[in-house]
Amino acid sequence: MLEQIKLLVRLQQMDTERLALESEAAEGPVRIANLEQGLVGLTGQIAAAAGELGQLRRQRKEIEETVEANQTKMKRSQSRLPMIKNNREYRAVLKEIDDLKRMNYDLEDEVIEVMERLEALEAEQAERHRRLGEIKVELEENKQVILDRVDECRTLLREMAGERQEVRAAVDVETMARYDQIAYARGGLALAPIKGGTCQACFMNLTPQQYQILQHMERLMTCPSCHRLIYWGEHEAFAPPDEPGAESAQAGEGAP
Ligand SMILES: [Zn+2]
Repeated sequence: MLEQIKLLVRLQQMDTERLALESEAAEGPVRIANLEQGLVGLTGQIAAAAGELGQLRRQRKEIEETVEANQTKMKRSQSRLPMIKNNREYRAVLKEIDDLKRMNYDLEDEVIEVMERLEALEAEQAERHRRLGEIKVELEENKQVILDRVDECRTLLREMAGERQEVRAAVDVETMARYDQIAYARGGLALAPIKGGTCQACFMNLTPQQYQILQHMERLMTCPSCHRLIYWGEHEAFAPPDEPGAESAQAGEGAP
């Protein structure tokens, strides 16, 4: 049984790594697509805002030109006043001057509104250009890095496939079927170690009796809570190789 459990532990290690690599390989192109989409979206927004800005600038110019034309008219009318002898005509010219003055007041209010709107839009447009620059830099700097990493993930997955097949072939068929079924239902994690009587996947405790049976390692058990396959994780066969104790023991053995 220990040999079968060792195989399952190795298989679970590889499957966990495989799933992480697969999702990383899938996320890379999505990240690039998102950046490129952001670029297209912002470019569209910038073009649309540029159209609106152009329109507002033309509007401002038109208003300013009208104000200037009105001022010219006012000056001309004012210079005519001293030469007018007729009372009615005099009042008519005064009224004309007054109307032009009022019109210019209104136009000046209007031009202030247009300029405020322009100022706000120009600030928004500058912010869009800044973000566009950032995305361009991020794409330039990261696109190749992301693509390289995707390639690397795919290479690692290919390299892993052979050993994975070997391990799967060495596990007995019925156990392999159970493992696959649980992995499918439990997000790829079919096997969990029990440490200190606790399942390391769902963190529920075994009963003392279940824990004792588990430590005999005579049959493959499942966690009563999460139903994953479980094994006694504190058995010496599963001690992590990078523990300081294990390392110095290895160094001792390796010394001539
Ligand atoms: Zn569990």
